[in-house]
Amino acid sequence: MTNMSFLDLKAINAQYRDELIDACTRVIDSGWYVQGTEVSAFEQEFAAYCGTKHAIGVANGLDALILTLRAWKELGKLKEGDEVIVPANTYIASILAITENRLVPVLVEPDLATYNVCPKNTEAAITEKTRVILPVHLYGQLADMPAIMDIAKRHDLLVLEDSAQAHGASIDGKRAGNWGDASGFSFYPGKNLGALGDAGAITTNDDELAQVLRALGNYGSHKKYENLYQGVNSRLDEIQAAMLRVKLSHLDTEIAARRAVAKVYMEGISNPSITLPSWQNEESHVFHLFVIRTNQRTELQQHLLEHGVQSLIHYPIPPHQQQAYSQWATQSYPMTEMIHQQVLSLPISPVLASSNVRNIINICNEFNI
Ligand SMILES: *Cc1c(COP(=O)(O)O)cnc(C)c1O
Repeated sequence: MTNMSFLDLKAINAQYRDELIDACTRVIDSGWYVQGTEVSAFEQEFAAYCGTKHAIGVANGLDALILTLRAWKELGKLKEGDEVIVPANTYIASILAITENRLVPVLVEPDLATYNVCPKNTEAAITEKTRVILPVHLYGQLADMPAIMDIAKRHDLLVLEDSAQAHGASIDGKRAGNWGDASGFSFYPGKNLGALGDAGAITTNDDELAQVLRALGNYGSHKKYENLYQGVNSRLDEIQAAMLRVKLSHLDTEIAARRAVAKVYMEGISNPSITLPSWQNEESHVFHLFVIRTNQRTELQQHLLEHGVQSLIHYPIPPHQQQAYSQWATQSYPMTEMIHQQVLSLPISPVLASSNVRNIINICNEFNI
C-alpha cells in the first residue's frame, strides 16, 4: 500500500537544500534583514519573470490584494462602496481584500468547465458602481484574460488579478500578473513559488501605483520619517526574498514537472464518474492543484484514503456560506455550491514519483466499478 501525503513540501525544498542554505548564510552574514539587496534583487527578477515593469514585495498574498485596492483609493480611483466583481467560488482571501477596503464584492458564478471567472456573467453583473474586476486564476489556470480585459476596456474598469495560484501561467506568451492593471501574488510555502514562510508581491506596469504601494507597505512613507499615507507594515523579509530567488530560478522546471504529472492523470483517469479538469492549452495551466469533480466525493475520498492516498477539498465552504459573511447567507449561487460539493484535489507536485501517479490513477479507475 502507498502512503502518500497530499503535498511533500519537505521533499520539494530538499531539492535545493544547499542553495537555500547558501542564500540564508548570505543574509545572516550581511547584517541587513529588511528592505535590502535581496528584496530588490528578487523584485527585479520576479518582475522580469512576469514581464512587468514592477514587482513590489509585501508580507503575504492577502496584503498584496488589500494594498492594491487601498492604493487605488489613495489615488482617487476607488471610493468606499464601489463594486468589485469577483468569482463566487474563489478562496476567501480575494473577498477579504475587497471588504477590508469597505468596497462591495459582487459575486458572480464561474465557468463550470474551468472554475474560473465567467466573462458573460461578469459583464452581466456590471452596474454604474462597478469599478474593478478581480479575476482569480484558480487552481493554477489563467482565467480568460483576453475576454476580461476586453470587458474592462469597454466599461472603463480596473482589473486586479489574483495570481496567488498561477505563477508562470500564460496565454499567448503573456503571463499571470501582466494582464491586469495590477496583480497580487502569494508565496505561501504551499504555493507553486513558495517561500519558507509568509511572503507576497504585487506586479504592475503602472509607475504611480508602484510608488504608492511601496509607501503603503512601509508605514505610508517614501522617505524615512515622512508619512504620506496612514500605511501599514507589510514588507517582504530579506531572508524570504533570498529563499524566493533560489525557488524562482527553478520555477519553470517545477511547472514542467507538474504539467507532466497532470498529463499522465489526464490520459490515465478514465472513470466515468470523475470529471477531469479542462486544460485550455499547454501554457495556460501550471497545476497548483489537480482538481477533479465527482458526485460521489465522500466515497472517492474514502476510497483513496483506504489505499493510502491523501486528497483535499479546495474549498469545502464557499465564501457566501461562511460565518464571516453571514449577511450573504440567504444568497444562492447554485453552480458555486455544486462545485464546492463535488471538487476533490488529487496529489500533484514536482516531486511526485511517476509510480505514485500511476497508483493514484489505478485507484481512481477502480473506484465504484
Ligand atoms: C493563497 C491565496 C491567497 C492569499 O495568500 P496568502 O499569502 O496566504 O495571504 C489569495 N488568493 C488566493 C486565490 C490564494 O490561493
